[in-house]
Amino acid sequence: MNKLQEQIQALKQEKDAVILAHYYVEDEVQEIADYVGDSYYLSKIATEVPQQTICFAGVSFMGESAKILNPEKTVLLPDTTADCPMAHMATVEKIEQIRSQYEDVAVVCYINSTTELKAHSDVCVTSANAMKIVKKLPNKNIYFIPDQHLGSYIAAKVPEKNFIFNDGFCPVHQKFTVENVKAAKAVHPKAKFLVHPESPKEVVELADFVGSTSEIITYAGNDSADSFLVGTESGVMYALKERYPNKVFYEVTAKQCCMDMKKVTLEKVKNCLEQGSGEVKLEETVRLKSVDALDRMLELAK
Ligand code: 13P
Ligand code: SF4
Repeated sequence: MNKLQEQIQALKQEKDAVILAHYYVEDEVQEIADYVGDSYYLSKIATEVPQQTICFAGVSFMGESAKILNPEKTVLLPDTTADCPMAHMATVEKIEQIRSQYEDVAVVCYINSTTELKAHSDVCVTSANAMKIVKKLPNKNIYFIPDQHLGSYIAAKVPEKNFIFNDGFCPVHQKFTVENVKAAKAVHPKAKFLVHPESPKEVVELADFVGSTSEIITYAGNDSADSFLVGTESGVMYALKERYPNKVFYEVTAKQCCMDMKKVTLEKVKNCLEQGSGEVKLEETVRLKSVDALDRMLELAK
């Protein structure tokens, strides 16, 4: 453990704080986190930890979701400018328009979204629970926001529902193409291709396995193959290599990096714990409007 990591460990005790980290943040930040996981796991664990302060090593929608679910806790973001671009790729106006157009519609909101979008949605989902939740909804029509690719992946798995799509996308997963995946497969012909459903449909069709970050990591451990081509953000390479040192993992391109997740550094984690900076503050009226969609997710995902 380096000096900064030691200082962070001491601050955690002193401030009664816990660090939650997403698999996409820097390796050294994952190392000092108390819990590392996918978006579903992190939102759930945020409701279970006993500490008064949650330091969320991730992007703003993650810290905001933790605050929405735990208003009595202090939630700190090491870098408040670390924001998921896709979280803003839907509008309340369009939601209202769809609601007026379709009688029996559920607005299903990927957790990668602003608090305002959650406040106008019926239920939140993550890539790990979206299929289960959509299947359980009584509604025939599903307006899936903001991610077009996760939406179309789930739509194919739930053909009994009528999906209305939105045009949002993740700029990191959007960079995977049939060409670069085929080129990587040609270099590593024995490697199984694992992909996140935020990737374009034609890329998902080339995969041996499709799942959330946690699901990709679990699959790589359970599968008999010993080499894998990883179709998601490069941060997951840390957990894959740590957990399965006898297996080999390759990235598809040199560019599968989320610049917002990488803004979260050890230095910033230390500073926010020390100074109590980067606190997530939400208007209570807005929080109350958005909490139902997250609570419903936690309930339906059980
Ligand atoms: P999961 O970890 O839930 O798979 O989400 C991926 C992601 O893009 C988070 O921003
Ligand atoms: Fe958003 Fe994509 Fe970065 Fe995840 S990887 S935070 S979806 S931009």
